[in-house]
Parts: sequence; structure tokens; C-alpha cells
Amino acid sequence: MSDALIRFNKPTVIGNELQYMQEAIANGHLSGDGPFTKRCHALLEQTLGVPKALLTTSCTHALEMAAILLDIQAGDEVIIPSFTFVSTVNAFVLRGAKPVFADVRADTLNLDETRLEELITERTKAIVPVHYAGVACEMDTILDIARRHQIAVVEDNAHGLFGKYRGRYLGTLGVMATQSFHETKNFTCGEGGALLINDPALVERAEIVREKGTNRSRFFRGQVDKYTWVDIGSSYLPSDLLAAFLYGQLEQAEEIQRRRQYIWEIYHRLLADWAAAWDIRQPVIPDDVEQAYHMYYILLPSLQMRTKLIEHLRNHDIKAVFHYLPLHLSDMGRRFGGQEGDCPVTEDVSNRLLRLPFYNTLSSEEQERIIDALHQFRP
Ligand SMILES: *Cc1c(COP(=O)(O)O)cnc(C)c1O
Repeated sequence: MSDALIRFNKPTVIGNELQYMQEAIANGHLSGDGPFTKRCHALLEQTLGVPKALLTTSCTHALEMAAILLDIQAGDEVIIPSFTFVSTVNAFVLRGAKPVFADVRADTLNLDETRLEELITERTKAIVPVHYAGVACEMDTILDIARRHQIAVVEDNAHGLFGKYRGRYLGTLGVMATQSFHETKNFTCGEGGALLINDPALVERAEIVREKGTNRSRFFRGQVDKYTWVDIGSSYLPSDLLAAFLYGQLEQAEEIQRRRQYIWEIYHRLLADWAAAWDIRQPVIPDDVEQAYHMYYILLPSLQMRTKLIEHLRNHDIKAVFHYLPLHLSDMGRRFGGQEGDCPVTEDVSNRLLRLPFYNTLSSEEQERIIDALHQFRP
């Protein structure tokens, strides 16, 4: 049968990452906010047109910063899709918030905006939509509801860097947005993230929170003559070594996205007949959305068939994975009152979704092997 194992994800060097890391060492600035961090900030700000981008140690930490900047307090409610990674909710729970779990739409698996308003109460402080798979949520409706109720929107854009909604970049729509540069994302430095800030009034405090609650950023700019403790905060800035690696990736954004688009479209086209024959659903991309090509997933008709397909692929040395377990039914979610039936779409799709291997350097031969193996599958 087959050659080597095809992994689900493989982080790879694509441009000048290693050269830039050597340069960072030669610069003698390995801590945060060195020359490469500044280059990453400028690239993100200019490309996306956001007032401020700040690299963070992870998307999780960018979410934690967002919760601090919104002054989330004990008893506040935050609306979050149940179908997401734990960090989306944890960041707010750490500040004492009560998560209110929203279900997702059956087509895009994004927060169901038609059921959003009924979740809002007097205590709702934030809505955190996740652009699942880098496909935009229905943001005009979400933003309109948020505006009417004066609730902040924070986009968890871990999947969606450089994706667009009605011509506007994802990450520029909420008051803040968070990015991930974890090794499983389109662009990586191993572990890393960014906070995008669209409200300039939040920038100064964001710099303080990110620098351990000190006004060190102002000190380095010569705006104050000594720096001191002025607010709560933590250490949310990554080493310039990691920023150097990341800059090498971000510089290749067009090439990386072109490659990912190609891989995505091959899956989509060559699996269409097979999927139709076995009642397998392929991803749905609304017309007014330019997706970020973060993943290729399929929805099997049943949990049993997914289990069989994972096994079948494993026998062909191909690793396919699933996610997310519904947050409202997790141990923590249940402590916040989550119950079976609260989010029926989430509960259903989480049993049936499967992600196929997808990474920047997935070769045509590897992809052919995966598609052949799928075509051979008999449920
Ligand atoms: C990956 C991911 C995160 C967390 O990112 P880290 O950089 O690993 O902290 C948060 N939200 C979503 C939707 C993610 O996919």
C-alpha cells in the first residue's frame, strides 16, 4: 500500500524565517517588541487597515487581553458559540464572566445570528463570533444587534486571517479581534497570536496590559521619564525570535494563501461526486465571503460512519481528525448550566465532522493518495 504517514498538519518553513531568526540574534534583541515584532505589526496594520496590531504569545492571550480591556466583571454574560475552541470562552470566564452558549448555523457552522438576540440580557457585555474555518460569520446582522444593545463584539479570528466579509477584512469588524499563530494555523511561529484593535481609545491601555500592567511602552517612546505599575496586566508579548519566524511567514502571505486555496479547491472538486453518492456534506461558502482557506472538513451522515472513515484512513497511513466537542456539554460548560439539547446543531455536527490533512506544503501526490483512499471507502 502506502509510503509514509500523511500527517494531519505539518508546520513548514516557506520563506526567510531562519534567516530572520539569525538576524534577530545578531540584533541582540531577543525579548519582546524588537525590530521584527514592529515589522509584523506594520505588516498587519497596513495590509488589514487596522489602527493597531499587537503580537501576543497566543490567541488565547489575545482573548484574555480583550476580556480585560472590556472590563469584564464577575456576573457579566458573554455570548459565545458552543462550537469553538476552549480559549474563546476561558478568557472571559477567567474574569468571572458567565458564558452563554449560542448554537451555530447548519451551513457555515458559524454563530447563528438568527437566534442571537434571544440570548441577550441586561448583563450581556460581549459577543464573540468565531469565523469558523476562516469563513465569515453574518457580521452585518451580528454588528447591528450588538450596536442596538450596546454590546461589544470581539472576533475570534484564529482561522480567518486575510479572509473577507463583503469586501472587508475579517478582524476589522469588531471592536477587537484575535489571531492565532499556533502551528496548526495558516501562518505560524509555533505558539503566537495577535490582538487587532479597531477602537483607538483602547490602544494605550492595551499596551499597558500587555506589558505587565506598566507604562513601559510609553517610556520606550520617551513619553514618560520612568515606567511604573499603572494597571492590571501580564506578560503577553512574544520574543522577537518568534516574531522573526512569523515575519518570514507573513511576508509570504500571498503564496501561502494561494497554495491553500489550490489544495482546498482540489479537495472540493475531486470529492464532489463521492460526497454526493454517500450523502456526505462538503463545506458551504456564502457568496459574499472570501474565505481564508483554513481547513477542509466534511460532514458524514453519522458518527458511526465517521468512526469507520477515520479507521479506513488510518489503514492507509492518513491522519484525519475531528473537533470541537460542544462546550456547553463539557464538564465546565455543565457547571454553567449547559444541558443536552441547548445547542442541537452543535451537538449534531460535532459527532459528524471530519477534517482532512491540510497544510501549506501538502504535495499533489499526498493529496492524490488521500482522495484515492476516500474514493475506496465503502461505508
Ligand atoms: C487555535 C484557536 C484558538 C487558540 O489559539 P492559540 O494561539 O493556540 O491560543 C482560539 N480560538 C480558535 C477558534 C482557535 O482555532
